[in-house]
Amino acid sequence: MRTTAFHLVTRKETPQDAEIISHQLMIRTGMIRKLGAGLYTWAPLGLKVLQKIENIIREEMNAAGALEMLMPAVQPKELWQETGRIEDFGGQLLAIHDRAERDYFFGPTHEEVITDFVRNEVNSYKQLPINFYQIQTKFRDEIRPRFGVMRSREFIMKDAYSFHLNHESLVETYEKMKLAYTNIISRIGLDFRCVLADSGAIGGSGSQEFHVIADSGEDAIMYSETGEYAANLEKCEAVGLLDSRAAATAEIEKIHTPEQKTIDSVAAFLQVDKTQTIKTLLVAGVDEPVALVVRGDHSLNEVKANNLASVASPLRMLDDDEIKAVAGCDAGSIGVKGFKGHVVVDRTVANMSDFICGANENDYHFTGVNWDRDASFDEIQDIRDAQVGDPSPDGVGTLNVARGIEVGHIFQLGNKYSKAMNAVVLNEQGKSQAMEMGCYGMGVTRMVAAAIEQNHDDKGIIWPANIAPFAVAILPMNYQKSERVRRTADELYESLTSQGIEVILDDRKVRPGFMMSDFELLGIPHQVIIGDRALDENEVEYRNRTDMESIRVSRDTINDFLA
Ligand code: ATP
Ligand code: MG
Ligand code: MG
Ligand code: MG
Repeated sequence: MRTTAFHLVTRKETPQDAEIISHQLMIRTGMIRKLGAGLYTWAPLGLKVLQKIENIIREEMNAAGALEMLMPAVQPKELWQETGRIEDFGGQLLAIHDRAERDYFFGPTHEEVITDFVRNEVNSYKQLPINFYQIQTKFRDEIRPRFGVMRSREFIMKDAYSFHLNHESLVETYEKMKLAYTNIISRIGLDFRCVLADSGAIGGSGSQEFHVIADSGEDAIMYSETGEYAANLEKCEAVGLLDSRAAATAEIEKIHTPEQKTIDSVAAFLQVDKTQTIKTLLVAGVDEPVALVVRGDHSLNEVKANNLASVASPLRMLDDDEIKAVAGCDAGSIGVKGFKGHVVVDRTVANMSDFICGANENDYHFTGVNWDRDASFDEIQDIRDAQVGDPSPDGVGTLNVARGIEVGHIFQLGNKYSKAMNAVVLNEQGKSQAMEMGCYGMGVTRMVAAAIEQNHDDKGIIWPANIAPFAVAILPMNYQKSERVRRTADELYESLTSQGIEVILDDRKVRPGFMMSDFELLGIPHQVIIGDRALDENEVEYRNRTDMESIRVSRDTINDFLA
């Protein structure tokens, strides 16, 4: 590719609304452009990277026996009524209707659609197990889209769904997917951790997340330095890692029978409008005051779907002054079923915004409470300090805390969807049986941003080799005027291209300094600078984007050097 035949529009200035480095660099390089809130156009440069990631995902999914398909992005509302998930997803669902006033959603995920497909296609155990996947556009009306494609509203996900006769078969495929995910992220070239996770609104039993380690990550994960153990902090609580929280969990179990953990009781408890969308209800403290945090994102029904205890995550109790600062009122007594309590803010999700908080008294609730980003980073550090060095629950090594970007999430769903939608097969005995199901999501567009978070310096992106938009940049000095420079650049370009190497030749009429800084920003791994001075000695200059050290290479051997 020659730059004059390509679309290359870089910017020197850091865009104002871009808080994290990947967002800044994706805009500055021109990989993406914003169309509206959480909506981005992928320019040809960005798309090249995106497609490389897609191809790696495809190859590994195919190798693991999954079958590619493509489902509609638009889904009839009736399917969602069958599973009762409309309220669970709440405000994230983009509702649309056609000219006949029929209702649809732009799919945020595809459990309903695939289960409908499978209940019509699969009727015998002989067709199982089977694993379908697609790479497709999703829409989630995120409360606060931000960080560019890291948390957008329209995004591309690879989602896979497997169907089984029994749990053993599900576990077998789940493990295969876990390995495929490990292979994918390794091939992309990122440092990551597979961590235990809470199943959340999707439901089911076993669940793990894949986190790319980065300080800008929205999740806090805990892992053993030397062992295998790793968990999202939410899950740390669920497995009883943090004693006070485990005790709180037990206490809540005693007081709230399952029937009481309904949307109505929780809404009444909080004195919030139950139609208000919230994300997580967190409960802590036993002898200490009980604490509640509600975060905007999901609907209150998620609380019903989850066991209260399982969504609890580590909290630090705020003292009265802090509560006053956050809630704007004195810590009130909550006084429900023997609970006395304060409202606190969850330290792990403090930067996630839009809390509803306050004491449980009329007129003492506040919505849309936000923390600024830097404060939240310090708060994460609090947890890190408190927990680091604790023994790992599996007995191997001690715990550390890091921040992570969730790029993948795998679930053992069991028969939640197949039962709700009557997706059954005849088993070996000829009896009808609901299928066991697994689902496996991966954020394709988010992966691009995650890769940049982990691979950049103050000059720009440093692409990992397997996802670089171009492998080699040929940077001729004075291409327009020096016949010798032009011939050398063109010859190298032709020869590398004919060997299947992706090359970009900068034939623009720009100053050398401008060209150099553009290609530092763009992060092309191998850069060859061709100028008259080196050519006098029959040489060209080579530098690697990682260390940026220039070396001279003979013009006769540069091709072999790069190939
Ligand atoms: P998050 O916790 O970041 O909101 P999620 O748990 O809601 O993500 P899943 O339902 O597990 O997301 O979806 C599978 C994958 O899709 C996630 O692991 C993530 O990589 C990606 N993803 C989810 N929401 C977004 C988004 N708004 N923008 C970009 N990618 C997303
Ligand atoms: Mg989400
Ligand atoms: Mg998540
Ligand atoms: Mg998830």
